[in-house]
Amino acid sequence: MTPLTAAIVGAGPAGLFTLDALLRQAPDVQVDVYERLPTPYGLIRSGVAPDHQGVKAVVRQFDRAFARDNVRLIADCDVGSALPLDLLREAYDLVFLATGAPRGRRLRVPGEELSGVYCAAAFMAWLNGHPDHRDLEPQVGERVVVVGGGNVALDVTRVLAKSEAEMASSDLCAHARRVTGAAQTITVVVRAPPEGARFTPTELAALGRLEAANVSVELPATADLSVQVVAALARLPSGSPAAAARIRFRFGLQPIEVLGRGRVEQVRFRGAGGDEVVAADTLIVAIGQEASPPVAMERTCPVGWAGGGRGDIPRARMEAAETARRMLAGATATPRAVARARLAAWLQDSGAGVLDWAAWRRIDVAECAAAVAPRPREKLVSWDALRDTARLYET
Ligand SMILES: Cc1cc2nc3c(=O)[nH]c(=O)nc-3n(C[C@H](O)[C@H](O)[C@H](O)COP(=O)(O)OP(=O)(O)OC[C@H]3O[C@@H](n4cnc5c(N)ncnc54)[C@H](O)[C@@H]3O)c2cc1C
Repeated sequence: MTPLTAAIVGAGPAGLFTLDALLRQAPDVQVDVYERLPTPYGLIRSGVAPDHQGVKAVVRQFDRAFARDNVRLIADCDVGSALPLDLLREAYDLVFLATGAPRGRRLRVPGEELSGVYCAAAFMAWLNGHPDHRDLEPQVGERVVVVGGGNVALDVTRVLAKSEAEMASSDLCAHARRVTGAAQTITVVVRAPPEGARFTPTELAALGRLEAANVSVELPATADLSVQVVAALARLPSGSPAAAARIRFRFGLQPIEVLGRGRVEQVRFRGAGGDEVVAADTLIVAIGQEASPPVAMERTCPVGWAGGGRGDIPRARMEAAETARRMLAGATATPRAVARARLAAWLQDSGAGVLDWAAWRRIDVAECAAAVAPRPREKLVSWDALRDTARLYET
């Protein structure tokens, strides 16, 4: 009997939860997971803050799936730029596009191109060792402004404000350790009023526990303390006045211009009380990420952030289970011998498909072995180092 076949493009949370859901709902389905990097896990590896090791540990559950004979990882294979999507659509009964939303949204204000202005997505990718962002080398000065009202803005702020000791058990990359302690003031500016901020109380409370920073929150007199996020902001302890870094929260300010000669020196904001200029050596923009428009065709379905969702990892799991159920309900196993042979020939000729799950495990073992405790891993951060390690070492 012809087995049902599925390709998943992107080995981030959405792709891997889709894999998990497919295997639960149709255990015999043959699944190939295509990933453009030599490493799996998407933003869990390259976005989630390095000091959030508990969140990153979610990846362990995926090992079981890749131990099965009917599942393959085909890493270091860019679908679209290298491997044509049509070839996949011909060779599989179902294709899931889980390629994420890689581009940081921009402010679109004058001066944004000045040096010292960074998208949070790229900044977090750099300090997490994403090989595409290795050369970002951000200049983090004493006065940092972070624009954004969600947890990514808090991640950036917390990582900058933590002491070396507080980051010691993180997997912050070696090249990024210089950012610890660089900032003296971090001003988090939210365009919405406090009631509209999307910070979660847990992430806010974590800022209140930092040993080397104090926090001040400027809430308007009209702020509604019955709103959960406002109450969490009001509860933030101010910390020690002698702390090395000072974190300030401002609300209801819209950035309208970045000023400076060659590099950022000030950011102009517009609020209810008129314009205000905040001095800054570094501006980090954390206002979300963008994907290309989702591609949905017969037997092909976007999932996760590629499908327009912008939720967190638990949400990716829920959506993946639902998408897998819907797609399996309408799927028919079809013999595709000619298309499978064409795909196999393409993989052979291009050299893609060499980096499989065992190759990723060689990277994983090498990174863990290189770390000095309590650091969990010392990441490899260049394409060459990742590829060479994937091919050289044995697990
Ligand atoms: C900075 C940051 C911090 C976050 N922190 C948390 C947190 O603490 N807790 C939480 O629950 N959520 C967090 N999130 C949200 C979480 O990361 C997302 O919910 C989740 O990663 C979305 O999963 P995804 O699979 O859709 O996309 P991604 O994680 O982006 O995965 C997409 C994958 O597709 C691959 N890919 C892209 N293009 C191609 C291609 N052409 N061919 C093959 N492969 C391709 C990519 O390399 C990547 O591996 C954070 C997000 C960010 C940006």
